[in-house]
Amino acid sequence: NVSVKQQPDGEDQSKAVVSAANVRVVGRIRPLAKYEIENGSTPCVLKVPTIPGHTGPETLQINPKNKSETQKWFELDAVLDESCSQKEVYEKSGAHQAISEDIFQGFNCTILAYGQTGAGKTFTMGTALGAQEDDDEEYTIQESDGVIPRACHDLFQNIRDKCDGNAQVECSYMEVYNEEIRDLLSPNSTDSSQLRIRETLDGEVYVRGLESRLVTTPLDVGKLMEEANGRRVVASTKMNATSSRSHAICVLKIKGVLEDATKFEAKLTLVDLAGSEKMKKTGASGARAAEGISINKGLFVLGQVVSALAEQRPKFKRKPPFRDSKLTRLLQDSLGGNSRTIMVACCSPADFNMEETINTLRYATQARNIKNSATANVVQTISQEEAMKLKRENALLKSQVE
Ligand code: ADP
Ligand code: MG
Repeated sequence: NVSVKQQPDGEDQSKAVVSAANVRVVGRIRPLAKYEIENGSTPCVLKVPTIPGHTGPETLQINPKNKSETQKWFELDAVLDESCSQKEVYEKSGAHQAISEDIFQGFNCTILAYGQTGAGKTFTMGTALGAQEDDDEEYTIQESDGVIPRACHDLFQNIRDKCDGNAQVECSYMEVYNEEIRDLLSPNSTDSSQLRIRETLDGEVYVRGLESRLVTTPLDVGKLMEEANGRRVVASTKMNATSSRSHAICVLKIKGVLEDATKFEAKLTLVDLAGSEKMKKTGASGARAAEGISINKGLFVLGQVVSALAEQRPKFKRKPPFRDSKLTRLLQDSLGGNSRTIMVACCSPADFNMEETINTLRYATQARNIKNSATANVVQTISQEEAMKLKRENALLKSQVE
């Protein structure tokens, strides 16, 4: 669904490619965990053949343990069950295409992991890019690597292949915790007073004052992740000892020149959301429960935004309340328009978690109705001379970083 908008006269070399596409939503079911087996849980979530008469999307079925409850089906763009490897998740979720193609056509892309604590969000995003041998250019993908390491690997590979290395990547990493943005790349991350959410005239949302660092290899990103993860707010809950109660948002801004001298810009946003569970199950009380209310505010407003955006009857359309939480404000340009967006709805297979899994899937199926209209940030075709100049500047920057 791609159309080409011709720019006004005098700029006849530039063109804006507009692509309208729905948010792509995939469900991921992890294997039954040891603690779930120990508490007597059995799997109640499974992938089933697509319902006859329905084409395209895949179907996930919920079988309640209690036979008096009815089965439920959820149609998603893909269902990735426990047999799916990290590589398959990366490919079937659409992340691979986003990073190998869409970014290089100048489309902003956003990948979000959603689900209750312990459902596999962090595992799916896979933030660890461990140190490897010194040869920085080559990062060898490990089987356990999730979306972020794979995305970084492919991004730099494609920069070499498609741009002859002629691109610049800037990384920033923040977390939203209790309605406060914290800069995970800044040693003063606890002082969030300088950070302000701003919007450009084109509607791009950014955080003023947020650090961003030039990265030239996957391992550069890995080092930043390690640094950032050390600063994340991690608190234990009954469900998952290392669960994070905050939203982690990693942004990679890419500017480059393709071999045919087309200049492009794109933003890749990778989000590991906080647990979506209701508070009662985690047994949180006191300070942690108060924290829970505020954490859920972002997800609560996200739910309202999703439902407003997904409303297909014009008469019932409301203005999505993006400004009601930091999370939704930050994701405004991902969900509200100019981005290719992928949501991975992470599910535990255990019947013990059925209620939360159903909530996650309801959220997910609603998000599938959101239609974004992404505009490619392909600015213009530049002269060979200008391309050479950029290339030299880039080489210089690279050597300065090294
Ligand atoms: P979340 O970030 O949603 O709280 P995690 O990603 O930390 O959940 O996953 C919880 C636990 O389950 C972790 O120990 C993780 O390694 C494991 N896990 C999650 N998904 C999978 C999977 N697809 N295959 C194997 N183990 C998984
Ligand atoms: Mg997590």
